[in-house]
Amino acid sequence: MLKIALPNKGRLSDEVRELFNDAGLEVRVRGERALTASLGGEFEAIFVRAQDIPEFVADGAAHAGVTGWDLVNESGRELELLMDLEFGRCRLVVAAREESGITSADGVKDGMRVASCFPRLTQEFFTKRGQQIVVVPVSGAAEIAPHLGIADIVVDLTSTGSTLKMNGLREVVTVLESSARLVACKNNDAEAARKLEELKQALGSVLAARGKRYLMANVPRKVLPQVRDVLPGLNGPTVVDIMNGGDYVAVHAVVPSKTIYRTINALKAIGCEGILVTRIERLMP
Ligand code: AMP
Repeated sequence: MLKIALPNKGRLSDEVRELFNDAGLEVRVRGERALTASLGGEFEAIFVRAQDIPEFVADGAAHAGVTGWDLVNESGRELELLMDLEFGRCRLVVAAREESGITSADGVKDGMRVASCFPRLTQEFFTKRGQQIVVVPVSGAAEIAPHLGIADIVVDLTSTGSTLKMNGLREVVTVLESSARLVACKNNDAEAARKLEELKQALGSVLAARGKRYLMANVPRKVLPQVRDVLPGLNGPTVVDIMNGGDYVAVHAVVPSKTIYRTINALKAIGCEGILVTRIERLMP
């Protein structure tokens, strides 16, 4: 059985489960508080705190795990990065009080106190810059520290910046860009590595499909050259004859979902009809 450590709660847990479910690794929990769950086939999930996942995986208690890149780096443990899962995007940033006058990393003076849930990364960041600060380790709500006089600045996670702003803090510089990652133990045997490669492909095919749609349209044969420009597809669009279709053929293509409205309008403008767009479950180019 291949053990995969997944976040038991918090920001990442729902999206991780959704991704695994979409990839056909349905998380079958036996109860709300279950610590493990079958993922079907040869995979088993172990639910732990996102912060503990790097340790679990590095120690070999799980073959692989999904957690934030920020937490992997903070752990300082050596792990194999298998893939970026593209959600849970956030930045670890240095932030200072609006009225502090600190607008860049150079504004941080030696001896300043820096509150953070990421003491290791904070220390490393300033040491590399040759700045001697004092780290104040906290286990949450670092943004309150400057207002309580516990610290001058903070190193905290943010995605939209709104929580920092709400707390009167200004983002000064980015320490690390983060997102959810699939990481593996460095000591996995060849059999585990092979199964993890299958897992990677299953998750990757779902992620690749998320930003794409499958589009079908009936196209006047004479505008086919123009359709090629509008619908490049993976290998150029597929063209299919329509029974009793007259001057029309059917064209199928995989297109980016972000620009789908533009694509539809462009197809209509050159006389295409019967346009149909569907979601794609998996994509393996
Ligand atoms: P939490 O559930 O708050 O313990 O956060 C777990 C992980 O979610 C963090 O370590 C980050 O990798 C990620 N995350 C994504 N967006 C944010 C955000 N805006 N603030 C904090 N963590 C975030």
